[in-house]
Amino acid sequence: MVIQALLYLATLKYLLMKKIQMVDLISQYNHIKEDVDQAVLDVIRSSAYINGPEVKSFQKELEEYLNAKHVIPCANGTDALQIAMMALGLKPGDEVITATFTYVATAEVIALLGLKPVLVDVHPDTFQIEPEKIRGAITAKTKAIVPVHLFGQCAPMEEIMEIAKAHGLYVIEDTAQAIGAEYTFGNGKKAKAGTIGDIGATSFFPSKNLGCFGDGGAIFTQSDELAQKLRMIANHGQSVRYYHDEVGVNSRLDSIQAAILRQKLPHLDQYNARRRRAAEFYNTSFAHEPRLKTPALAENSTHVFHQYTLQLEGDRQAMIDHLASKNIPAMIYYPVALHMQKAYRDERYKEGDFPVTEQLVNTVFSLPMHTELNDEQLVYITQSVLEFFNS
Ligand SMILES: *Cc1c(COP(=O)(O)O)cnc(C)c1O
Repeated sequence: MVIQALLYLATLKYLLMKKIQMVDLISQYNHIKEDVDQAVLDVIRSSAYINGPEVKSFQKELEEYLNAKHVIPCANGTDALQIAMMALGLKPGDEVITATFTYVATAEVIALLGLKPVLVDVHPDTFQIEPEKIRGAITAKTKAIVPVHLFGQCAPMEEIMEIAKAHGLYVIEDTAQAIGAEYTFGNGKKAKAGTIGDIGATSFFPSKNLGCFGDGGAIFTQSDELAQKLRMIANHGQSVRYYHDEVGVNSRLDSIQAAILRQKLPHLDQYNARRRRAAEFYNTSFAHEPRLKTPALAENSTHVFHQYTLQLEGDRQAMIDHLASKNIPAMIYYPVALHMQKAYRDERYKEGDFPVTEQLVNTVFSLPMHTELNDEQLVYITQSVLEFFNS
C-alpha cells in the first residue's frame, strides 16, 4: 500500500513537472514579460522600425558590457562573419583556417566569398580549435584564422593571437555561442569573448545565450578604421547616402529586436550563471559514471554553457531513444564534421584526416541546457541518464 502510494505520488509529481525542453524560451520571457512587451509596443508606436534609437542604445550598452570600442549590429550571426571577412579585404583564393568541428556558418561564408576554408582538428576534451594544428595548416596563402568559441567557452586565444602575430594573419572570433564568456591572459588581463581578435562576430538567434525574438547579430572591433569599414559594408557599401564606395550587403538589426535585447542584456550574466549552475549539477551527477565524459573546462576561460555536451562510451542512439521515452530531449551537435559534409567535400580531405572530430561526431550528445531548468527537472534528467547504464 505504502509503496503503491509512493509510486503514485512519484508519477503524479512527474506529470506535474514542467515539460523539459532543450531550450525554454517561453518561461524565460515570462519573467521579463512586462518590460519586453512595453519595449516592443514603444517601438511600434514610435514607427522608428529601422535603425531607430533602440538600435543605437543597444549598441552603446553592448559596447559597455563587452568593453568593446565598437559594436556594429547586423541581421544575423552568419552575416556578421561574412561582413567581417569582407571588411578585412580577403580575396578569392585566400586561405582561412577554422575548425572542422563547428556549426556550418563559419565555413559557409568563407566558401561564399570564394575564399578557401582550411580545416583543422579540435581538442578532444574542450572541443576547441588546436593551436598546434593551426600552425601546421599555415601556408603562404593563409590570411586569417577563425576560432569558434564552441559550446560557450573561449578557444585558446592567447596562443592563437601569438600565431597570428608571428605570421601576419587576421583573427575573426566566432563568438555566436559564447557571448559573456571571459578570457584571462597569462598576465592576468581579462577580455570578453569576441573582443580579443581583430573582429568578433556574434548571433542573437533566439536560442543563443543572448537571444532576440527573431534573427539578429553583431560585429565587434577595437579598431576605428575597421569599424568604419564594417559599418559601411553592412549598409550597402555606403558611408554617405547614395554614394557606394564598395560592394556591400544589406544587414540590419531590427529596432524591435534591439528593444528586446536591451531588456535582456542586463540579465545576461545571471542567465549565464543559471546555465553554469545546471552544468555543475550535471557534472556532479555524472562524476562517477566512467562511460560518460563530462565537458572539460578550457584553460583561461569561463564557460557560459551554450550547450552541455557529453561524450558517451556506448550506444548513443539507444541513449537518445531511452531519454526520448522519458520525454527528455537530447541533441547531437554536430553529427557530421565539416570536411565530411556534401557541400564542403574537398579532394584535400578524406575520412581519417581529423581523428578527434571524427570520434566526437560519433560520441557526443547534448542535454537540455537553458536558464529555466529547475532542480526537479535536473534530478529527473540526471537519474534518467544514469538509469540507461543499469537497464
Ligand atoms: C548560430 C551560429 C552562427 C550563425 O548565427 P545565425 O544568427 O544563425 O546566422 C554562426 N556560428 C556559430 C558557431 C553558431 O552557433
